Amino acid sequence: MSDGTCPQVVLVTGAASGMGANHARTLAARGSHVCVADIEDPSQVAAEIRAAGGTATPYELDVSSPAAWARVVDQIRAATGQLGGLVNNAGISRRLELMETPDEVWEQTLRINLSGAFYGMKAVAPFMRDSGGGSIVNISSISGQVGYFSAAYAASKWGLTGLSKSAAGTLAKWHIRVNSVHPGLVGTPLLEGADAFVASSLDSVPAGRMGTVDEISDAVVFLLSDRSTYMNGSEVTVDGGLVSNGLYHRIRAESGVPQHDRTDV
Ligand code: NAD
Repeated sequence: MSDGTCPQVVLVTGAASGMGANHARTLAARGSHVCVADIEDPSQVAAEIRAAGGTATPYELDVSSPAAWARVVDQIRAATGQLGGLVNNAGISRRLELMETPDEVWEQTLRINLSGAFYGMKAVAPFMRDSGGGSIVNISSISGQVGYFSAAYAASKWGLTGLSKSAAGTLAKWHIRVNSVHPGLVGTPLLEGADAFVASSLDSVPAGRMGTVDEISDAVVFLLSDRSTYMNGSEVTVDGGLVSNGLYHRIRAESGVPQHDRTDV
């Protein structure tokens, strides 16, 4: 059995906060050098990783800019000479229904959540090929698997689900795998100001709680590692059973069928 080794060098976008910062910390703790990239200054996360005994380099990167991707890839090539992993994690979420969504919000959400991963894979794939292959993990969402009310977010995440499958087929010839991870509700700054939405959503989560950032990082690390070498083009859903069972979980609760105890979040 493989021992779960991760690539020696991994680039994580959106790594200045939330899940991306946790993916970076987790990968560094397992021995990867982490390129910590974000539109916000990611140097604090890189410094935390170094203080904990790992190695990391911060990169300022707006994922919606192809020129910024080219610059960062050149910098990583010069600094490390190799890249074996990419986590396209950067994303934004504006919870607005179709008719409430300004055109600018639609365009910005698609530019960051979908085009960002497209530009990233195009910029990184030749470098990964030259490094002997690698693994790309695109952070979609359960909103990229079901009908979700927020039009721009849902479209961007469904787009990313499809883009991942398309790239998985194309990049296999370079020994690059591409899979998508679909988190359910996870307590990060992305959900700030959505307390009522989150509380109500939990009625549809069989696990009875939000996911932790570590539970999402575990899936990401698995897909980057040599434990998943035959996984390509897969959707890995990490949602406490929301997508598979949320509907009947809520119906059973509302019709008085006993549920197990809820865990407060
Ligand atoms: P977060 O807001 O804590 O982190 C997102 C990060 O992306 C931030 O550090 C932000 O600065 C960065 N970012 C935003 N625009 C960027 C850009 N143009 N270029 C580079 N970086 C940029 O959110 P999070 O919850 O950690 O989300 C991480 C990913 O997980 C996102 O793709 C999000 O859509 C997805 N997701 C989150 C949840 C959840 O419940 N929190 C559920 C499903 C999917």
